[in-house]
Amino acid sequence: MDGRIAGITLRRAWRSVADLVLPRVCVVCGRQLLLSEEHICTVCEAGLPRTFFSSLRDNPMARAFNALVDRELGWAQGESKAPCPELDAPSGARSVPATQPYGYATALLFYRGDSPYKNIPMGLKYGRGLGEGRHFARMLGRDLAASPLFADVDAVIPVPLHRARRWRRGYNQAEVVARGIAEGVSQVASGNGPLVFTGILKRVRRTKTQTRLHSGDRYANVKSAFVADARKLKAVSHILLVDDVFTTGATLLACERALRAGLAEVFGPDAASKVRISVATLSFVG
Ligand SMILES: [Zn+2]
Repeated sequence: MDGRIAGITLRRAWRSVADLVLPRVCVVCGRQLLLSEEHICTVCEAGLPRTFFSSLRDNPMARAFNALVDRELGWAQGESKAPCPELDAPSGARSVPATQPYGYATALLFYRGDSPYKNIPMGLKYGRGLGEGRHFARMLGRDLAASPLFADVDAVIPVPLHRARRWRRGYNQAEVVARGIAEGVSQVASGNGPLVFTGILKRVRRTKTQTRLHSGDRYANVKSAFVADARKLKAVSHILLVDDVFTTGATLLACERALRAGLAEVFGPDAASKVRISVATLSFVG
């Protein structure tokens, strides 16, 4: 018996004992899990509302995200496009590249408030499901590894929390998703998968919780909340920005702007304009 099989056998034996003491249940339906199941039962897993966006260049999330970026760039370049009141200034006052590659976008699941599948993102956000979150993020990572769109991702960057909120919560849910994605990629792709960078983006201003804000106020709330120190991103060509949920895309836009400005500051606008910045989340409110 090689070490890996012995490890799996030992893990299953331990799990069967642990299940007797504290039965594990499906995150979606609450039914007790079988020994072979992890976090979700086979029936609920078969019904997961997957988006399958990973293989689609053009999908609702990519359209929403790129429309936000386009509007922001249009305003920054002084083009004839009417400025959007909620997008009234780029993050930070640093130079912003004039053109840039299309950002791909994907999420594992569609989010619906009346669906029991919302337990997956909600559990991660509100304190219970770190193991669950990582499990489903690995699933997304395996999707990414199978997609030619994301094959060249060489840096994964989670949306940061302000350090006060990070301290109160004890973890950053976006970082849990980012690490799960990188693990999922490395399970499928040869090599170690993309690196996760947690010190690049910083949230320098505390912001109100986005969930209570009208969609028009969300970008105003997070604009200028982030800065990026891009020195460690030398030779990076495709960044994957990661959050737990995509609602209006305002937070991801603010992070994209800050990253782009940080790249321009360190490597110059030309080099910065060649970097692709894509986005991935566990769920998409579509
Ligand atoms: Zn279930």
